[in-house]
This record gives sequence, C-alpha cells and structure tokens, in this order.
Amino acid sequence: MPLDSIEGSLKERGVRLTRQRQILLELIDKTGEHLDAERLFQLAKEKDPKINRVTVYRTLKMLKAGGLVDELDLMHYGGDQHYYETRLKQEHAHVICLRCGKVEEFFGEPLQRLRKQIESHFGFQILLARTEVGGYCSHCQSLRAREVEEVRDLAAANGKAAVESKRARSRRS
Ligand SMILES: [Zn+2]
Ligand SMILES: [Zn+2]
Repeated sequence: MPLDSIEGSLKERGVRLTRQRQILLELIDKTGEHLDAERLFQLAKEKDPKINRVTVYRTLKMLKAGGLVDELDLMHYGGDQHYYETRLKQEHAHVICLRCGKVEEFFGEPLQRLRKQIESHFGFQILLARTEVGGYCSHCQSLRAREVEEVRDLAAANGKAAVESKRARSRRS
C-alpha cells in the first residue's frame, strides 16, 4: 500500500490528512527505521516547528487505530517506549540485539508459512502477527566473549593474590 493509498483509505474514513499528520506519516514511512514517539516528535519539529507533542501522540494513536502503523515494543529493549512503522512493508520479523539495541528485519517465506500453519492448526483467522526475536548480534557476541574472558582473568588474578596474602600471613605467625 503506497503512501497515497494510505491517504485514500484515511479519506474514506473521513479522516483528513492534515499537513502535520502527513509529516508524521512520511517520517514513519521514509526513515524505514523504528522510531519512538519522542524521536518522531524531534524529527517532525525540524519540518514544522509548530508541531507539538500532543499532536504527535494523538496522530500516532489515530494511525494505529486505523491500522496504518504498527506499534512495536521491540522486546522492551529501550524500556517502556513504543516504536512505530508503517504497515506498508511486507510482513517481517524483528530481530533485536539485547545488548546494543540493533534491530534487523527478517523478511521471508517462512513467516507466511508459519501464519498458514497457525491458521489451519487452530482454524484461526489471523489479523495481525508480530514476530520478535531477541539475542546478541555477532558483534556483541564477540564483545561478550571478551568480557567473560576478562572477568575470568580478573577472578584468577584475585584468587592468586588471595592465596599469596594468606601464605604471607601464615608465614608471619
Ligand atoms: Zn549487538
Ligand atoms: Zn520493522
């Protein structure tokens, strides 16, 4: 669904796409990132200094209710805030690094297959599906491995120091 058809479907519902709403919709659509309300507000302000937080929150609520944007929590990596993306994209899973917060998008046929399997298994009609996977990206895996090593070295060094000081004490007595 391209942006103008979003506008069309809003118009059908009697929702007027004001300039400020359009700015937000475009930001969510064009950045291709997963932005939270505060970041969206900051970006929107660059385009229209008159825009305020209330408008941003209200617009996001409206776009969400209209099924035009998805609200994600991305495994609450960043706390309680929510992130937004348009429903224009093909269904995808979010792969979130729980260490650095990097978010990857996985597109692919397995997701459609899973959806079909769930539908036939439960006789269920899926209206929306959200797939989130949390873990460590390859960069963070190597950083973590190094951290574990450092902690181990430190523990070994402390252990040795403790043994030596105990020995020194027993020699003194
Ligand atoms: Zn990472
Ligand atoms: Zn996404």
